[in-house]
Amino acid sequence: NDRLVQMQALAMLGRLTAGVAHDLNNPLATIRGLADIMLTSELDAEVRSELETIRKQAEYSGHMVSTLLAYARRQRGEPEKVNLNEIISQSLELLAFQARVTNTRCELRLDERLPLTWGDPSQLQQVVLNLVNNAMQAMANSHGGGTLRVESAWSPGEGASLGWITLRVRDDGAGIPEDVLPRLFQPYFTTRGAAGGTGLGLSISADIVRRHNGRIWAENNPRGGACFTVQLPVAAEP
Ligand code: ADP
Repeated sequence: NDRLVQMQALAMLGRLTAGVAHDLNNPLATIRGLADIMLTSELDAEVRSELETIRKQAEYSGHMVSTLLAYARRQRGEPEKVNLNEIISQSLELLAFQARVTNTRCELRLDERLPLTWGDPSQLQQVVLNLVNNAMQAMANSHGGGTLRVESAWSPGEGASLGWITLRVRDDGAGIPEDVLPRLFQPYFTTRGAAGGTGLGLSISADIVRRHNGRIWAENNPRGGACFTVQLPVAAEP
């Protein structure tokens, strides 16, 4: 019964998302286009750099919107072999501005021998963006910034299993209260309602990870802060 309610919630969420994402496309294109036009004129350096930020952020939002649209339409691209390290680096680049405004220091520990996984790169990027964005918000809310650690690792499999690729996003924010832990991944669960949270980021992420035959979970670090782990199966050779 819980599952049914959850599936209905997700179906409704799909329709809602498609509508909102679609309506956002036009104004975002206008913002980008106008910024582009303005950037062609003579500007002083400060105005130019602010305008470039506006342009970048509109582009970033446009990217999120198309990911959401693709998700809502279940328009999965053909799965391809994906290098998770590249997705992590690209996601952090997209969030460089958020990192600055939330006063986040990023520590990156990528395993260079990481094997590939099968998947939809834009959906997997959505997962990384959600986790990193949440971590930045959590740290900014609890003590005005902090240190984010993003890790990738490979656990070789035993026997027939090819093993797992692990992504870990660790923050030093306030952590997750015990009573919140079991509800984190439910659609619409948010403790950030007033701050514009929708409670959809983690439920969408969990759905994406499930569809990649992976797993996702959250825990608190012994020394404070939250840690989200995603594991994806290593891609088999065709
Ligand atoms: P939203 O961010 O819109 O609230 P999410 O589904 O992304 O929705 O997250 C749901 C809730 O999980 C958040 O409102 C917050 O309470 C909690 N949460 C997520 N990430 C973290 C984190 N890194 N540290 C502490 N709490 C978190």
